[in-house]
Amino acid sequence: MFILKKAFFTIWAVLAMILVGGCDSSDTQQDSDPEEPVWDYADKGPARWANIASEWAICGSGMRQSPIDISVTTEVDIGAWAFKYGSSKMRAQNDSKTIHLFVDTGSSIAVNEKTFILKEIHFHTTSEHTFNGVVSPGEIHFVHESSDGEVAYVAALVQVGNENKAIATILSELPAEPGDPIEVDLFFNAFDFLPESKTFYRYDGSLTTPACTEGVTWIVLQNQLIMSSTQINGLRGIMGLNFRPVQPLNGRTISQN
Ligand SMILES: [Zn+2]
Repeated sequence: MFILKKAFFTIWAVLAMILVGGCDSSDTQQDSDPEEPVWDYADKGPARWANIASEWAICGSGMRQSPIDISVTTEVDIGAWAFKYGSSKMRAQNDSKTIHLFVDTGSSIAVNEKTFILKEIHFHTTSEHTFNGVVSPGEIHFVHESSDGEVAYVAALVQVGNENKAIATILSELPAEPGDPIEVDLFFNAFDFLPESKTFYRYDGSLTTPACTEGVTWIVLQNQLIMSSTQINGLRGIMGLNFRPVQPLNGRTISQN
């Protein structure tokens, strides 16, 4: 009798394991594409990106990676440049790693007579770039692309101070949960997200997320954007900490205007 009971229990235990195991694998298949490598800022964080997928190897071996610490700079004639940002509607997306604000075409920067169209703005807490080794509580990236596919990033580091009015208008509209882009029913001008003085540092770097692609023109504004600690904490509350640590300069020149 005892043996029978034991056998009965074993059968049910095995059946239960099969059932639970079956549910698990079907969930995994629904949630993520097995072909798509996954990264984050935790278990699959910056120190591991290079080993997650062969196409991300440059995250570890690249010699012109971003972000960097900006300390020693060369003063040069950077040439003609201009911000040509205008007002537009936007779509906001929480992709579980950052908040993106996708803008309509119509905003651009001109660097040495080459036009880069503003595609989207996104946020990092804390800052990715540092000034003389000092980390700021946040950083905003303005992502631009030229018609021939060249990428230029403008970065504005964030300093704690008074409430930022431009950020205040959009903060409550940002999606707190990850999902598809949503229409935001207000006009905004990315120019309002920039500090007043537009002097900047310029260097050649990379994307700060996988695939860490190099050949990106970086324009890091010297003056920081002021936001209140409540606003910075609001962004951090949605995104968590999402920064890549600074990368070696490897002999690159940082110029300033
Ligand atoms: Zn970024």
